[in-house]
Amino acid sequence: MTNQALHAKAFNQAIAEDQLIGSHCLVCGNISIPQRQICSNCHSDQVERIQMDGKGTLAAFTVIYVPPTSMAEAGYNAKNPYCVGIVALGEGPRISAQIIGLDLSDPETIKIGLPLKQTFVVRGEGEFAKKFLAFEPA
Ligand SMILES: [Zn+2]
Repeated sequence: MTNQALHAKAFNQAIAEDQLIGSHCLVCGNISIPQRQICSNCHSDQVERIQMDGKGTLAAFTVIYVPPTSMAEAGYNAKNPYCVGIVALGEGPRISAQIIGLDLSDPETIKIGLPLKQTFVVRGEGEFAKKFLAFEPA
């Protein structure tokens, strides 16, 4: 497995345990999600795995009315849309995730800068159940 695949696996394992992890560069202080072996800012390999505190603000969002197959199977459609946002985490990095707990009947009411906190949603059933990172209003 490549390092990238290993890191994606570690990231998904952490999600399964209700944790959001990233990497912290000991040289320049840069924080990345998912974790990296080499700092994306200064290219140092002096990086450590950290657990993010899961708080951030809404930086951008889109409401999806025509979902990809996996989300259609989870019950989303034009009458039951879902929101995907870019969340600016308190530690610095941005991450894309589903935003739950918003009133999607009028997306105009959703404000950029809305405080959010991490949560986890399970999609699929039985052996196909998988946990995903999501955010909700804090
Ligand atoms: Zn660095």
